[in-house]
Amino acid sequence: MYCHQLLRDYTTYSPAYTIVPTYECFNRCTYCNFRTNPGASPWMTLSAAEEIFRRLQKQKVCEILILSGEVHPHSPQRQAWFQRIYDLCNLALNWGFLPHTNVGPLSFAEMQQLKSVNVSMGLMLEQLTPKLLATVHRHAPSKLPELRLQQLTWAGELQIPFTTGLLLGIGETLDDCWETLEAISHLHQRYHHIQEVILQPHSPGNQQTFDAPAFNPHQLPEIITQARQILPADITIQIPPNLVKNEQWLLACIEAGARDLGGIGPIDEVNPDYPHLQEQELREILQPAGWQLVPRLPIYPQFDSWLSEELQAAVKRWRKFIFT
Ligand code: SF4
Repeated sequence: MYCHQLLRDYTTYSPAYTIVPTYECFNRCTYCNFRTNPGASPWMTLSAAEEIFRRLQKQKVCEILILSGEVHPHSPQRQAWFQRIYDLCNLALNWGFLPHTNVGPLSFAEMQQLKSVNVSMGLMLEQLTPKLLATVHRHAPSKLPELRLQQLTWAGELQIPFTTGLLLGIGETLDDCWETLEAISHLHQRYHHIQEVILQPHSPGNQQTFDAPAFNPHQLPEIITQARQILPADITIQIPPNLVKNEQWLLACIEAGARDLGGIGPIDEVNPDYPHLQEQELREILQPAGWQLVPRLPIYPQFDSWLSEELQAAVKRWRKFIFT
């Protein structure tokens, strides 16, 4: 039953499926377990996506997360890359799903166009400290902190419901985390457009060159508690349950104030070495501790009026039929 407003002790998740227009990316973040070199991986075709959407019709999936590697803004391929993303979103909508796009920094005009085929969008702020530009982001021009802050500002100006977040354990200090959270809070107070902040612990994978241990999950509850103090109350804190492997620590994160587990689907494309627990397994962990697991849409109800009439109608159908 989709009525989490009525439950006191609940945590939400989004029944989601991730499609990847391309794994190619012109950045080389050293902790990446996703990218291929530009030109090295084929782009997802519309017919391949259609086949996936047809199959998903029989499953209880609502959100299509469009997650892509990045083509350089000045590349001759950029327009075609953007068009493919737009077309995939449109196709997902036509099949009755609700798209949420997270494909790296976009121009203002690109964001504006994608708003018409997405119910929400996202971009991780990761960390604002410029010192990472000399380390993990040394070869990642689109990880410039100002560029990413600009995206959050444009999302606010365009009234796009937005998800952002921090990557933890990539060389930042706790003070760096608080500074990044303060910046999110500041922008939200201006535009009231941030739905969720993800706190994502660095979790080493097979492909990365960054030689550092996993972020200590025991530190997460403390960071969540502090984040809850910094962030406005209407921003939900999200944690990826596949990266907090110990059940007790997962519960501790929820007790500390995390209230969302993000998109749960077959594969975590960003952390492919860490399979998702599925809905029933999560329920079995949460319920004995008194927590209800409740599905949600990729747009929170307070933002529905920001959407076009067509998108509002699609959202309304999901709110009415699927989770009742
Ligand atoms: S983390 Fe994202 S931006 Fe960085 S290399 Fe990987 S796909 Fe590209």
